[in-house]
Amino acid sequence: MSYAQKNVTSEFALRDSIKPIDIDYSKIRASKKQKIIFGARKRKLHRIRLLKNTIIIARLYRTPGRVIRILNLIRKRRNSLAGGNNVYKVVSIANKHFWRINIPAWESPLFYMFLKSELHRLEPHNYSTHRLTLTYLAITKKCPLKCEHCFEWDNLNKKEKISTANIDTMIENLQSIGSTNIAFTGGEPMLRVNEIISAIKKYKDKSAFWVLTSGFNFTSENAHALKSAGLTGVVVSIDHHDSYQHDIFRMSEGSFRDAVTAVKYGIENDLVTVISTCITKVNATREYIDEFMRFSKDLGVGFVQFLEPKPVGHYAMKNVMLKPEQLKLLEEVFLSYNKEAEYRDFPIIVYHGFYQRRVGCMASGNRMVYVDTNGNFMKCPFCQNKKGSLLDENFESMINEMNTESCSDFGSFV
Ligand code: SF4
Repeated sequence: MSYAQKNVTSEFALRDSIKPIDIDYSKIRASKKQKIIFGARKRKLHRIRLLKNTIIIARLYRTPGRVIRILNLIRKRRNSLAGGNNVYKVVSIANKHFWRINIPAWESPLFYMFLKSELHRLEPHNYSTHRLTLTYLAITKKCPLKCEHCFEWDNLNKKEKISTANIDTMIENLQSIGSTNIAFTGGEPMLRVNEIISAIKKYKDKSAFWVLTSGFNFTSENAHALKSAGLTGVVVSIDHHDSYQHDIFRMSEGSFRDAVTAVKYGIENDLVTVISTCITKVNATREYIDEFMRFSKDLGVGFVQFLEPKPVGHYAMKNVMLKPEQLKLLEEVFLSYNKEAEYRDFPIIVYHGFYQRRVGCMASGNRMVYVDTNGNFMKCPFCQNKKGSLLDENFESMINEMNTESCSDFGSFV
């Protein structure tokens, strides 16, 4: 029997060993929900934000002509991004407002750094900016799960390459050029929770920190310690609202219970709590997505992120890409849940594919980079060509070079 055949056989055996388990939602549902602001209150916040943004623009660009030109450029940018389809909601957590998951809390110093950085891209000014909006930092190869769609599959559970000192060096390097958000991923980053906590304590003033987790080890104590250290948010992967289907997808009995429990602790500790879900070919139906959104609303999260499956990692060589009509459905769902009054108290849907197909990709060293479990830059988790190491002293020029190559699927956002 070949290695590949043995692997398939052992995956079938593992799948057969997973049994449905009872979930007592009354014990794992959060005691509160993240607040979704819609309608007149959202419009009022929006107007105040615009006014304050205009004051910042006037301070940066000084002359009325430049200010008017920048305001026009912003209007055009917004129209090209969303085509008039703006998100009509904001999430409010502990009196902080979150428009999107990668835009820092409004109002906060990091929000104004984000704004200045975006303005600098439109028309350069002389004030300090951040080179990156978001860096995914994969800090461990270890993971107890075996997910169907894992993009780090080929590195999983091999010998660790990244030391504690490396984590600090990588964050210091990122902050030397500016990374507004840094998201710890892996493998399962919660296996290195103590190192994450100490890194956040040291570096939280210059970046907002996130943890991307399956829910493993996201205990009440760890959630509390992460929040106390300064963590901004947690992104929990849940790939089906049915516990058994999720456990099968993740090849781990009990993984659904861990994930939903992580959501509870995220919400109860006032972390921005996001459910990230891979919409597979089988699940890309309106009926399934509506049910998934009801489930997410019931859990009380502020955001749900849709991911499209790509033939990378564990999905390599598999026919997993969504069909055009399924992509169209995701876009319709994205627009209706974020805009229509009927869905006013549902979480905000985050769907990068909607924007990528219209204006190009914001990864590839443009605003985002992915750093894998060896410390190497990739354009994104799905474009896995090594482009250099974040531990190398020339890392910035490597990011800039990567940016010139642009995204092969979507082209680059400018
Ligand atoms: S997708 Fe994440 S949780 Fe699943 S096996 Fe890969 S690293 Fe582990």
